[in-house]
Amino acid sequence: GMDVHLRVRVAPLGNRFMLVLAADRTEELRLAGVRRDFVANVSHELKTPIGAVSVLAEAIEAAAEDPDRVRSFAQRMQVEADRLGRMTKALIDLSRIQSDDPLDHAERVPIGRVVEVAVDRNRVLADSKRMRVIPRVLDEVDVLGSEDLITMAVQNLVANALQYSPEATHVGVGVRVTDGVVEISVTDKGVGIAHDDLERVFERFYRVDPARSRVTGGTGLGLSIVKHVASSHGGEVTLWSRPGQGSTFTLRLPVAGPTATAPKEIA
Ligand code: ADP
Repeated sequence: GMDVHLRVRVAPLGNRFMLVLAADRTEELRLAGVRRDFVANVSHELKTPIGAVSVLAEAIEAAAEDPDRVRSFAQRMQVEADRLGRMTKALIDLSRIQSDDPLDHAERVPIGRVVEVAVDRNRVLADSKRMRVIPRVLDEVDVLGSEDLITMAVQNLVANALQYSPEATHVGVGVRVTDGVVEISVTDKGVGIAHDDLERVFERFYRVDPARSRVTGGTGLGLSIVKHVASSHGGEVTLWSRPGQGSTFTLRLPVAGPTATAPKEIA
């Protein structure tokens, strides 16, 4: 875990790529434009699995005499239904983040626990690819906001790191604090992301390789959720990547100040 973390930190920029997404006004305006295309995108994205379910239902009817084919069509139908379920959940999560300011009812969120839960929720995926996720929490700190959302963001980054990496490689999750900001970085040794795609991967439904994403069952929404969680908590997400070598996604969030202690009662 340590060498993964260090190598990324000391790497000179050179032919590597780095992108910083700041939560400024320009970004907000751009998002408003993206939102206008949202309904069109959603219906387009839902059409594919719904169409598949419908075609498979017809195929099952036509193959009724052949149990093997019926079983195979039914399994594929289940895959599409699962995908629809994941997409619906991701869409609901996204709209919840947009309509709700997590800082309105902020709680103290211990980042150590966030990482632990996020890694744990990816255990099945990691095991299925014979991969290990290695957390390195250097600083134990709290962030103000929604534990649910921050966990979801880290969980998505870890899931992607596992998804877009070859089997039996390792994923590192580092936590460290600098200047009142906690950096949660997720590093993989996977396929990486080309320069031209760096900015686009944070857009809804954007995938570098749509065919592959269909196979892995991705929703194309994970990173847009991460980006919204970051900006709604006053933070940012940055991406470093080198095609063929791997990627590091870093979520930066402001650290919560010390807890105000209740004034002592005078006896
Ligand atoms: P998806 O459901 O397709 O994974 P995301 O929004 O999470 O949707 O990611 C968008 C796209 O960004 C992915 O389809 C993939 O092409 C690319 N991507 C995300 N994370 C990684 C990673 N760790 N390594 C390489 N490519 C990635």
